[in-house]
Amino acid sequence: MAKNLRLLGGGRDDAPDALILDDIHDLASDILHADEDDDDDPDPGPDLRPSQRVARIVLERSGLMHAFRDRIVLGVPGVWLVECGADGWTNTVIRTIGKSLHLSFDHYQWGRGFDLSLLARAADLGRHIIMTRDDDDDPFDDEIRLFALAEFDLRDDRHEDVAQIVSDHFGRQIDWPADLPARRMPYHALDYALVYGADEAAAERLVRVQIAVEERKRAESAIRRVEEQEKEAARNASRRGSGGKVDILRPTSPRVEDLAGYGDAARWAADLVADIAAYRAGEIAWSEVDTGALLVGPPGTGKTLFASALAASCDLPMISSSFAQWAATGASYQSDTIRAMRQTFEAAAANIPLLLFIDEIDSLPRRGVSPRHDDYWRPIVNTALECFDGTLRTEGIVVIAACNDASGLDPALLRSGRLDRRFEIALPDAAALARIFAHHAPDLPSSAIEPVATALAGTASGADVARFAREAKRIARRERRTVSGADILKVALPAETRTRELVLRTAIHEAGHAIALMLSGHVPRALSIVVDSLSAGHVSFDVDSTAGRLADVYRIALPALAGRAAEDVLLGEPTIGAAGDLETASGLVAGLDRGGLGGFLTPAQPDGDRVEARMRRLYAEAVMLVIRNRGAIMELAHLAVERRVLGEAALREFATKRGLA
Ligand code: ADP
Repeated sequence: MAKNLRLLGGGRDDAPDALILDDIHDLASDILHADEDDDDDPDPGPDLRPSQRVARIVLERSGLMHAFRDRIVLGVPGVWLVECGADGWTNTVIRTIGKSLHLSFDHYQWGRGFDLSLLARAADLGRHIIMTRDDDDDPFDDEIRLFALAEFDLRDDRHEDVAQIVSDHFGRQIDWPADLPARRMPYHALDYALVYGADEAAAERLVRVQIAVEERKRAESAIRRVEEQEKEAARNASRRGSGGKVDILRPTSPRVEDLAGYGDAARWAADLVADIAAYRAGEIAWSEVDTGALLVGPPGTGKTLFASALAASCDLPMISSSFAQWAATGASYQSDTIRAMRQTFEAAAANIPLLLFIDEIDSLPRRGVSPRHDDYWRPIVNTALECFDGTLRTEGIVVIAACNDASGLDPALLRSGRLDRRFEIALPDAAALARIFAHHAPDLPSSAIEPVATALAGTASGADVARFAREAKRIARRERRTVSGADILKVALPAETRTRELVLRTAIHEAGHAIALMLSGHVPRALSIVVDSLSAGHVSFDVDSTAGRLADVYRIALPALAGRAAEDVLLGEPTIGAAGDLETASGLVAGLDRGGLGGFLTPAQPDGDRVEARMRRLYAEAVMLVIRNRGAIMELAHLAVERRVLGEAALREFATKRGLA
């Protein structure tokens, strides 16, 4: 998204809309006061993150902070234009302004929910508007410039700015590479790198890894956009080829029961298949069949595939259409769009029984946004409602609508009797991903699929899986062999960019967790040393801590500490990478006092010294555990380095072989 729009106000985070001018005056006097105390050396703000501290330097240099502060003192809001040049940097900049000046903000994206009346509303509320831009190909409109108080350019951030903050962090003078100014880093990349990087070299590597991950994501979404456009072009071509006639498809496979990843929608579909069979057998009336649903989910989660599979399972022909298709039939005149829409619904009614699929229903915006907007859209939305009503009452038509984002839909569309049944199709979890992989690469053994599915859970869509399977098969074909799990891993996971030493350290840390869990009778679900946006590696496991006995608390706290202990014993020293683990363990240990398991019956606030003493005892136990099992930990770590991700089956096999479970 090239342009963003933020409304800034003087309210607190918990009450961003309760803005009155008084707030602004209070705030103004605070700031005035602060400035008088410390005019030339503005307080860097103790709770600014490192990336925000860099942004603060750039903001001060650009003059924006100064101008903004002055304006707040005057109590008169305005519109500000800010060139940022990159999406992540925009986020950092805006949060830095908000935090530094104690302002809360609402965030609108250009084109979504924005129109000029927002400017008037912001002025009424006494709120500033900051418009940001991150794409040089898409300049601010002259119309917007007319409203603006001032324009600032934040693209001259320098690597020295980052060097200054990194030096502060490590407490000595540090050079930061010139090709890594703050603007190039993904949002929070620097913060994460400074938490997990033991020195400047490690921090730099972590930043580069995150840039690589971000670039890969961007490349993938570009591919996805092209795929969507091709799909749309194919749909339009097939329409044009049929001379404006509506195509009737007859899908036969796959069927819904062959597919995974649809959750509640799949259960609804199974009922529908049974009901339609009962209707055909004359056992129930059509009015008893639940015939319409809205699927909401990110692109590529298989909504179109679901509609086609449902048609196959119900043995119904299908018409597939979309708003873009209707709009593309004429020179985008309202009347052409309306005619095309009617034509589709009429074709459905003339060909019952039938399944009607309508994609991208979120292209149809809600009414009442602004008068100008309404002149154009209201007739279109009204026609759509009328068509839906007629169709949903027609015996023999099932309607499936799909969209990526339901928040902008006209509420009337979702009212009872229309698309009132709604299913969220999320990115698939590990189990669903494994089944989707099996669908697209049936030759792969499940032992090869499981680790890949584990590593990608929650980050890849069904369409990604289809692409990974295609690419992996291509690699195997070129080398004249069958496709393997390693091929899939190669195309699906980001390349390793850390040093071998750091990879081994991560593997030893994660193996420490995993072995401790195995010893307490829990084989983890997965062990991964693939970097993602949250961590350098992880172990996931199911342990029910809700039982709440002392042993249950220790059953999690001890394995949590075993990662750090493994680094300590096997590599000679720990790193700060275990911060999250220490928080988990000390949080659990601190809870003992509150819960009456800390030696007192009166619930007490945790006492720092007592928690520390218990943590030390527990850590000594973790160290002993590592010493006794160092052979198993090293073996598992080497296995993790080799395979990058180990699924439950591989971990169970390891545990059995080693006599650990
Ligand atoms: P959407 O309509 O949600 O954008 P599509 O139905 O067009 O997604 O999905 C694109 C492709 O991705 C499908 O043709 C299929 O190959 C694959 N795909 C998506 N979800 C699944 C799934 N749950 N099971 C199998 N394949 C899937």
